[in-house]
Amino acid sequence: MADRARRLPRPVPATRQGAAVLAVVQRSGTFRSAQDVHAELRTAGQRVGLATVYRHLQLLAENGVIDALQSADGQTLYRHCASDDHHHHLICRQCGTSVEIEAPDVEQWAANTATRRGYTDVTHTIEIFGVCPACRKPASRAQRHRTPPG
Ligand SMILES: [Zn+2]
Ligand SMILES: [Zn+2]
Ligand SMILES: [Zn+2]
Repeated sequence: MADRARRLPRPVPATRQGAAVLAVVQRSGTFRSAQDVHAELRTAGQRVGLATVYRHLQLLAENGVIDALQSADGQTLYRHCASDDHHHHLICRQCGTSVEIEAPDVEQWAANTATRRGYTDVTHTIEIFGVCPACRKPASRAQRHRTPPG
């Protein structure tokens, strides 16, 4: 009975710092920037540089451990998603709350479009930004449906 080393499907952060970075992202639930994660680690007393945090986040994203996306203002944001499968996000611009969504129509359209033009090994990134119901200000009475004069 030889003790065989089991091969992990995904590399787990080998360093304490990498594990700490992943823990912050996992705890957060929303998309966070490298700066956010860095600030949180510093608050928790971790001595770690922003460049290191950024490198760990990139590595985790490359290995598919966490999701990465570009915010509307061009920042890279990271999140640990519940789904391992390909999916898209609906993100609140104000509070950062995000919902994982499947988009079969989009998948079909992307595949068809690429195939028609002879492209292979195709990927796509589509995120939807908006204001979530919780952040939407309740319409005041004064702003309610204005009836046209007449
Ligand atoms: Zn996701
Ligand atoms: Zn919101
Ligand atoms: Zn897709």
